[in-house]
Amino acid sequence: MLENVVKQNKPLIKLYTQKKRSEISPMNYKVQESKALEVVESLKGNLNKNTIMQFISPRYLMRNFGLSKEEIVSVYTKMQEEGLVKPRYTLRCSGCARVLGRYEVLNQVPEREKCIYCGEEDIERLENVYINFEIKK
Ligand SMILES: [Zn+2]
Repeated sequence: MLENVVKQNKPLIKLYTQKKRSEISPMNYKVQESKALEVVESLKGNLNKNTIMQFISPRYLMRNFGLSKEEIVSVYTKMQEEGLVKPRYTLRCSGCARVLGRYEVLNQVPEREKCIYCGEEDIERLENVYINFEIKK
C-alpha cells in the first residue's frame, strides 16, 4: 500500500540537510532497525530535559548520530508513531534557498510562489517543499 502512494506522488519527502537536498523513497527503507531505535531512545531522553528545542531537523540527526537518510526517515517514522513529533512543511526558494513559509499540511503550501528575497518566480510546490518535524509539547 505504501508503495502505491509513492508511485502516485513522486517527490514524497525531501530532507534539507546540507547544501543539497535529498529525495527519499520508502522503497529504499532498508534500515538498521536497531540503530534507529537506539537514536529514538536517546532523543526521548533529550526531549524530557530540553524544553527549548522545537524541531528535530534532519541535519541535527545527521550531525549528532551520523545517520543515513534512510535511517533518519526511520527515526521520524518511529517518533511519529509514538506521538512525539508532527511533520511540518517548509517551502524554500529554488533560487536563494531562503525559507518562504512553514505549513502544517502539505496542501496549505501555495502551488506556485514568488520569492520575496531574490525575486525568483514560479517556485513550484512539490519541487521545493521540505519536511521537518516539530516536537509535540
Ligand atoms: Zn529567493
